[in-house]
Order: sequence, then structure tokens, then C-alpha cells
Amino acid sequence: VCLTGFATVRLRALRMQRDRAVEIGKALAELAERDPLTGLLNRRGFLGKYAEAFGGAAGRPVGLLLIDVDKFKAVNDEFGHQAGDEVLVTLGRRLASFEERFGCRAGRLGGEEFVLGVSGVADGGLVELAETVRSELAECDFGVTAPGHRISVSIGVAQGAADRPFQALYRKADEALYVAKREGRNRVVCADRDIESDQAPVLQQVS
Ligand code: GH3
Ligand code: MG
Ligand code: MG
Repeated sequence: VCLTGFATVRLRALRMQRDRAVEIGKALAELAERDPLTGLLNRRGFLGKYAEAFGGAAGRPVGLLLIDVDKFKAVNDEFGHQAGDEVLVTLGRRLASFEERFGCRAGRLGGEEFVLGVSGVADGGLVELAETVRSELAECDFGVTAPGHRISVSIGVAQGAADRPFQALYRKADEALYVAKREGRNRVVCADRDIESDQAPVLQQVS
């Protein structure tokens, strides 16, 4: 009886240890997918969630908004690197608030480049969303961090189908972003929708 009691207690302790190890493993995996500065999904996390949330459903439209802060280097130069970090945190917070509002996924791909993945919104809706994002980010106030400073962002928009490779969509959005920069920044440029085409995308400036 004594031995059985001991074995039961020991088994329970081992189970608790195992459950704890599983929890810690999950927490570590979650951390590896997050950008430590803003708490948004990092590149790896965003790609994982993209595959999970957007992959598979053949034909369903998905949109990618690549968002790059304009002349961000000037923020660091003028207010210091730490203030630059805080500006990124503020922008990240605003982008995170879009997740629930617009049912999208936000991420920080690196540096001052962010991304929004949007599912089920087509054509005009996507551009409208990008315009809202652009104007709301421009309204961000950085208070004592960077007094009086206003930022602007350039956004490259690409649209494709959920079952197409992410890289193709990303390349198109990146090309559109490049055009937005070249044309003067603080604008949205939308790429052509045919992501399977090997040809350079047709780019359409919308703001
Ligand atoms: P553009 O309008 O062409 O995008 O100009 P830009 O200055 O934003 O672009 P550029 O690529 O020349 O500079 C990006 C700057 O972003 C340089 C780099 O020091 C800064 N940066 C990248 N990551 C971080 C970060 O995590 N924190 C801070 N404070 N700065 C960062
Ligand atoms: Mg930039
Ligand atoms: Mg950049």
C-alpha cells in the first residue's frame, strides 16, 4: 500500500514536471516568433502565421502591405537611437491595434519595415485600407520621445491568392514599395494582381 501510494505521488510529480516543460517549450516557441522591441511577430513568426492563416484556401484573396518608415535614419540622427526605438514601439502598437480592427496580421520584418497581411479583402478595399494605415500612422504623436516629430510611411501593396507562395507576393509588394520611395515617399503604390507572372509587375500609384 505504501509503495503504491509513493508511486502515485511520484507519477503525479512527473506529470506536473512534464506539463511545465511543455508550457515552457510553448512559451519559448512563442518568444522566438516575436520581435523583442515591439512585441509584433518577427519575420519568422509572420511567415508561420501567414501559412497558418492564409495558406490553403484556394482562390481566396490575400493582401500584403509592406510599410517602410520614410527617412527614419533622420529620427535617429536628430533624437538618438533610443528615441528611434521608442518611435518604432509606438508605430508597432498602432499596427497591432489594426489587427483586431481590420482582422489582419501585423509584423515587423526588420529595421523600420513592417507588414500587414490581410485576408479576404479585394482590390479597392485593400488600397483603402493601406490609405487608412498610411494616414493613421502619420498621426502618431511621439511626445517627449521625439517632440513635434511627424513620420510618414511608404506602402507597397500586393494582392494574390491564398494558395500561392508568400515569396511571390512579397516580391511584388517590395517592388511597389520601391516605386513609392522613388516617386517621393508618403504614398501607397499598388502592384498588379497577377503574382504568377514572371514579368515585372504593372505598378499603379494610388496616392
Ligand atoms: P527611406 O525613406 O529611404 O526608407 O530612408 P530611411 O532613412 O528610412 O532608410 P535607411 O535604410 O537609409 O535607414 C534606415 C535606418 O533605420 C537606419 C537604421 O539605423 C535604422 N534602424 C533600423 N533598425 C532600427 C532599430 O531597431 N532601432 C533604431 N533606433 N533604428 C533602426
Ligand atoms: Mg525607411
Ligand atoms: Mg527600410
